[in-house]
Amino acid sequence: MVDFECLARPGVRELRAYDPGHDLVSLRRRFAQTAQTQLVELGSNENPYGASPRARDAIVDALAGIHLYPDPLGGDLKRALATFHGIETSRLLLGNGSHELLMQLAQVFAGPGDEVVASRFGFAVYALAAQAAGASFRPAPALPRGHAMQHGHDLAELGAAIGPRTKLVYLANPNNPTGTWFAANAFAAFMASVPTNVIVVVDEAYAEFVTAPDYASALLLVERYPNLVVTRTFSKAYALAGLRVGFAIADPGLITLMERVRESFNVNALGLAAAEAALGDGAHLQASIAGNAAQREALSNGLRERGLHVSPSQTNFLLVAFGERAAQVEAGLVSRGVVLRPMGGYGLGEYLRITVGTAPENERLLATLDEVLA
Ligand SMILES: *Cc1c(COP(=O)(O)O)cnc(C)c1O
Repeated sequence: MVDFECLARPGVRELRAYDPGHDLVSLRRRFAQTAQTQLVELGSNENPYGASPRARDAIVDALAGIHLYPDPLGGDLKRALATFHGIETSRLLLGNGSHELLMQLAQVFAGPGDEVVASRFGFAVYALAAQAAGASFRPAPALPRGHAMQHGHDLAELGAAIGPRTKLVYLANPNNPTGTWFAANAFAAFMASVPTNVIVVVDEAYAEFVTAPDYASALLLVERYPNLVVTRTFSKAYALAGLRVGFAIADPGLITLMERVRESFNVNALGLAAAEAALGDGAHLQASIAGNAAQREALSNGLRERGLHVSPSQTNFLLVAFGERAAQVEAGLVSRGVVLRPMGGYGLGEYLRITVGTAPENERLLATLDEVLA
């Protein structure tokens, strides 16, 4: 017997693998075979409106070239992104989803003896990235229960957690799993207080869904602060989660360093083609965003009418308090074909995270919830 645990690096030994929630493939199979009802999947914050038809067409065209390696530079997509965001291509890095870039940032900038700071209820990948790189993860207290943005980022606490060994700070705006956000002026003040040798990563996976007037993308500050990195993804509003395309925008010097550890063909040919086409279909994107905004409001109201606490959200999901019944409610819903995301892994076991679906999906969720709660 080989004791692999002993062989692994200390950071990896302490890791727990990312928890993707339910095994959806088996659930789908089970429901397809036995149940009269269709499975409603509201556990992974996917976009129920689907990808742009232009992205589908681009994928079909790109199929002719799948015997070839993809463009290792991702040149076409980078040029399209540079035009879209009004930046130089030298500020762009493409990733196999933004998850890959979040991991890579820690790999490049944080190692044994270094610290990585993120909010207590920040996205789970941040702690994983830190520990996989051998750095120690330092969670900062989140906004307290009862605060309007409860469990959300407390920028003052994040600032206070930064110490001499801190290399990286990860923030998500808006945040997953809380759905909460922080205001543009608060973030500007935060950036002004962070030492320039600490890299601040703002994960904007849900930025396109935001409607709050006090929000602004951190992209506005990237030229002013060379230590600021913004990550975005095609997985959520652009509905291309299955293809794995994300990108980072930062100082060209930082991008150059990241390029050194990037796997040469990290973004596949279908992903590159689809992302570029999706970026060009603004009308499709706007339709998804509008559908989400309307349904986010309707679903929040439906849940609140049932006496449930719903955290304010600028994303395509809601964090909902179910108290001690959370696990029971969740199990009852799954057995009836409605999949939500349990939050025990985040230390929020009394909550469930609910992706905002289409109107029929949300109605089905509410009706099933009434059954389970009765
Ligand atoms: C979904 C999500 C991502 C996106 O991950 P991809 O790897 O781009 O699919 C990144 N950050 C947060 C907070 C997310 O919820």
